[in-house]
Amino acid sequence: MTYSIAIDGPAGAGKSTIAKKIAKELGFIYVDTGAMYRAMTYFFVTEHIKKEDAGAMGRLCENADISIKYQNGEQQVFLNGENVTPYLRTEEVGNLASVVATNGDVRRKLVELQQKLAKSENVVMDGRDIGTCVLPHADLKVYLTASPKTRAARRFKELTEKNILCNIEEIENDIIDRDKRDMEREISPLRQAEDAVLVDSSDMGVEEVVSYILQLFMERK
Ligand code: C5P
Repeated sequence: MTYSIAIDGPAGAGKSTIAKKIAKELGFIYVDTGAMYRAMTYFFVTEHIKKEDAGAMGRLCENADISIKYQNGEQQVFLNGENVTPYLRTEEVGNLASVVATNGDVRRKLVELQQKLAKSENVVMDGRDIGTCVLPHADLKVYLTASPKTRAARRFKELTEKNILCNIEEIENDIIDRDKRDMEREISPLRQAEDAVLVDSSDMGVEEVVSYILQLFMERK
């Protein structure tokens, strides 16, 4: 038997920071499912597939062999044998990924991979549809959110610290667009599962959120 914690929520809510820390604390593996959608997006970009061409994406996604491995506890994403992790975190790939993620064939393939992982390992998995679709029987489900302003400010800080030039209003608008696409898509839209605990991190520090979620898990397991 394996344990699983599902963390869903909109872009920039801090899911990966929080999920990573919880996984470390519990000795579970952290599965960043967004990175899988990003890797599939990267594959389509390198294959010159247009974002409007859902048919080609559906056919070609079978040619993308996506797998994950762990190096020093960090998830690395491999696409057809190549470690593509360094190419996945750009704003461009993230925004495009939310278009690719509306494709049913892509979702079927990636959900299968995610479910397989959770069968063999204790996982903290973050994404958009983990509690509602990928792991409906997760031991704990959290819906982590924060206001668009807070999320944009966090993202702005992160990018500026990396010396990447950016505009906070543009980031906020992209976040709002991405949320809308993720919440309004037909297949597995982003929404809080009925049995998920809502955590609004707008006025909470990272450690506060982590210890709250750990406490919720201990109460349930
Ligand atoms: O979480 P991240 O920003 O890396 O995800 C990129 C995009 O991938 C999201 O905006 C969303 O459209 C999609 N995604 C998804 N389901 C998941 C994880 C990510 O649809 N489980």
